[in-house]
Amino acid sequence: MPDAIVIGAGASGLAVALLLARGGWRVDVLDRDPDDRPRDLADVADWHRPGATQTWHSHAFLARGRSLLREHAPEILDGLRAAGVRETRLSEHAPPTLADVPPEDDELVVLGCRRATLDWVMREVVGREPGVTIRSGARVAGLLTEARGPGSASGAGAAPGTEAASGAGAPLVVRGVRLANGSSRTADLVVDAAGRLSPVRRWLVDAGADLPPPAEVDCGIAYYSRFYRRRGPEPAVALNRGHTAGASFDRYSCLMFPADRDVFSMTFGVLPEDGDIRVLRHGAAFDAAARAIEMFVPWLDAEQVVPVSPVTAMSHLSNRLRPLVADGRPGVLGLLTVGDAAIITNPAHTRGVTLALLGAVRLAETVRAIRDPADRALALDQSLRTEFAPWFEDSVHQDAARLLRWRPDNPGVRSGGDPSPINGALPTGYTPWPPRPEWGANAPAAAGAGVTNGEAYLAARRDPWVWDRFTRLQNALLPPSAVLTDSAFVARVRDVLATGWRPDPVPGPSHGELMGIATEALAQEGAGARARGN
Ligand SMILES: Cc1cc2nc3c(=O)[nH]c(=O)nc-3n(C[C@H](O)[C@H](O)[C@H](O)COP(=O)(O)OP(=O)(O)OC[C@H]3O[C@@H](n4cnc5c(N)ncnc54)[C@H](O)[C@@H]3O)c2cc1C
Repeated sequence: MPDAIVIGAGASGLAVALLLARGGWRVDVLDRDPDDRPRDLADVADWHRPGATQTWHSHAFLARGRSLLREHAPEILDGLRAAGVRETRLSEHAPPTLADVPPEDDELVVLGCRRATLDWVMREVVGREPGVTIRSGARVAGLLTEARGPGSASGAGAAPGTEAASGAGAPLVVRGVRLANGSSRTADLVVDAAGRLSPVRRWLVDAGADLPPPAEVDCGIAYYSRFYRRRGPEPAVALNRGHTAGASFDRYSCLMFPADRDVFSMTFGVLPEDGDIRVLRHGAAFDAAARAIEMFVPWLDAEQVVPVSPVTAMSHLSNRLRPLVADGRPGVLGLLTVGDAAIITNPAHTRGVTLALLGAVRLAETVRAIRDPADRALALDQSLRTEFAPWFEDSVHQDAARLLRWRPDNPGVRSGGDPSPINGALPTGYTPWPPRPEWGANAPAAAGAGVTNGEAYLAARRDPWVWDRFTRLQNALLPPSAVLTDSAFVARVRDVLATGWRPDPVPGPSHGELMGIATEALAQEGAGARARGN
């Protein structure tokens, strides 16, 4: 039985462990966090994993993610249902401005639950799987590597974090991992599922692996999130964004994420450099700001809800693609990547876990079908470039369009239709997709080049067929190329745009008004505390 080591017990690591074990592998999942998962799911709000701090932020899970679970790991979906996950039929939340009500569709169903609930259920299911061992408190501190090929110098010039460095030009071979406690483990395959902050790529480069540069583009956004518990019945309000409710206003956005059982969360998206808005870190300011947005009033009635978390903030977010193959030459053998270690998109699009699950499926399929490590690396690289890279690019384009609205003087992207990101080179041998994407929501698409996401979003509020295709795009059921540049789709979107119809804007305070409300609420809380002698 071959042995695999998976670094990281997040969504991607657990999914890949399950699928590899079912393909006949013995799998050790190593996670740096201590084993402090609450025994009872009811206490999941207290589970704060320092290794995956996004767990404290709002999450929603796309229809494609649900389909992947249904097909490849139905026990996880069953476990989520038992945990009170919300399954929302998107047709029931279609815009009222559509010409016709869309029919029910079993595929167009999204999952609403806290990220901690998903991880709790996944650990429960994967931990029971024969062949999988999950080890907590097992921080991986380096790789066991050796060089391969002519001219390689195995063992020479070992870099920090590695046992040996590779010879120039030869692919580095990974044989196992070194743990922070000084022990080491060998395996036939190591999977980097260590997430956004994975150190593995740095170790590979330090050891001399010849890797293409990552593509990395700043998202230009920071998030503030807070969780609440409802005491009363849920308000009968449609979710205007399908799986969430909310809107983008001037220089900020605010979304509400319904979650498992009686929990929901709110998230503000803001410019990272927006110093004034940091007042939202305070609970009183956050609550008052959220309540100032009309559509959330029924959700945030003070009599009906109680906050169940502090406000958490997260910034330094980027869209990122990290291939391991340069110009058709694998830089490393015996190690594959999955989840955020391979691709990250702006969390606003709620695609991360779906892409992590898809990556786990593709990795397990590849390993099952192909034995040669170099061919495996090439096959997964092909998948990264064709199936995953379009989501990276789509995210970059959507961020660029938003930044043109939020930060018109300094959007942080090149204007004039230049598709190359400014903060990082595209990987060598990488063909940008689509060939000449348009930057910015307002830029008219060149003839035949497609429509922007913003244009499609608008038309999807009017034309039911456009809504169906666009909803499948948003849920990763169709790739961007099958929608935004599809000639029939483009024609239908342009028909709607040509009528001059525009949806009513979602009412909400301006950025300045929001700041005033939040600052005032904080001052009142301070005055109240002083009056009480605290
Ligand atoms: C603010 C925010 C909101 C988001 N919202 C959504 C959403 O609504 N929907 C969605 O689908 N996605 C969302 N995402 C993205 C999603 O959280 C990620 O895509 C997803 O967590 C990726 O899973 P992963 O398993 O690759 O990484 P992670 O879940 O980050 O797991 C990585 C694991 O590796 C472990 N680890 C790290 N280093 C080591 C080491 N050296 N040794 C051992 N273990 C290690 C960590 O402890 C952790 O458990 C959001 C992300 C952010 C930042």
